[in-house]
Amino acid sequence: MSLSVLLEDSPAILSAFAAVFGLLVGSFLNVVIHRLPRDGKGVAEGRSHCPRCGHAIAWFENVPVLSWLALRGKCRGCRGAISVRYPAVELATGLMFWFVFEHLRSGHAPAGYPWGLLLVLWALLAVLLAASMIDFDFQILPDVLTKPMMPLGIVCSALVLELHREHSLVARWKGGDYTWLHGALDGVLGMLAGLALVGGLRSIASRFAGREAMGLGDVKLMGGLGAFVGAVGVVFVLLVGALLGSVMGLLNVLRIFAVRAVRMSRRRAQRPRWRWDIAWIAGRVIPFGPALSLGGAVVLLFRSELNVFLFETWPAWVQGR
Ligand SMILES: [Zn+2]
Repeated sequence: MSLSVLLEDSPAILSAFAAVFGLLVGSFLNVVIHRLPRDGKGVAEGRSHCPRCGHAIAWFENVPVLSWLALRGKCRGCRGAISVRYPAVELATGLMFWFVFEHLRSGHAPAGYPWGLLLVLWALLAVLLAASMIDFDFQILPDVLTKPMMPLGIVCSALVLELHREHSLVARWKGGDYTWLHGALDGVLGMLAGLALVGGLRSIASRFAGREAMGLGDVKLMGGLGAFVGAVGVVFVLLVGALLGSVMGLLNVLRIFAVRAVRMSRRRAQRPRWRWDIAWIAGRVIPFGPALSLGGAVVLLFRSELNVFLFETWPAWVQGR
């Protein structure tokens, strides 16, 4: 395999490629995040335009991160501000792709590098990032992103055996070689577990809250994640997601108090009221999608470390050993 030879001889080239490819994918994710929830127009159609003045964005204004810096965050047509979120999403995707590449490198010899797993993780994490940003903005998880995760997860489980092999439920009750059939079955079990777990949780929470708690989008997302991480993994995703969600919620409340404190200390009569109102509203609507996505990323990348922590480090610490 020539890629493995390249990995052995000059890993820096592939490392740089991973980062640059991530930047480009991040640039595409910006388009997805912007267009998907807004109009029926396909994300691949037509060139990008400034949402304010309609100025068509040329290729040299669309170079990830660099263009934003060169333009100092302003549109060339109307001089209006371009959100710092665009380069931030590009940078985050670049770092993410680079990190996954290096992370897999630390656990595998060049000859046995799991290229298939790398591609699956890149694609899945990119979808999770886009879904999270849309959920942040609109409190929805688009079906176009969550639903295909379920069948694709099962297909990937059959094709890329590294996804489940080490933590397989199917292999536990049916020994022998781990084949594509085992993988597909692990994917199906994971999907069903994710759907049942969050679907059940949703109906219980909705009954207690007296209104719809969590969206159906969260249920589909967990079904999709389950297909990739398996039935046990999806429980971990929920645990880590709930933990991260609580931290996010707490930070949001602290932010509200900070905004209020700043407001109080300035005590200017004409100080606008809207900022406080927006913080208040934002504090009450916390989408669960980003927390679950982050939980999914943690389980996908650090499953073994999580196992050691939950079943060895933590019990030993509780027992004072
Ligand atoms: Zn403009």
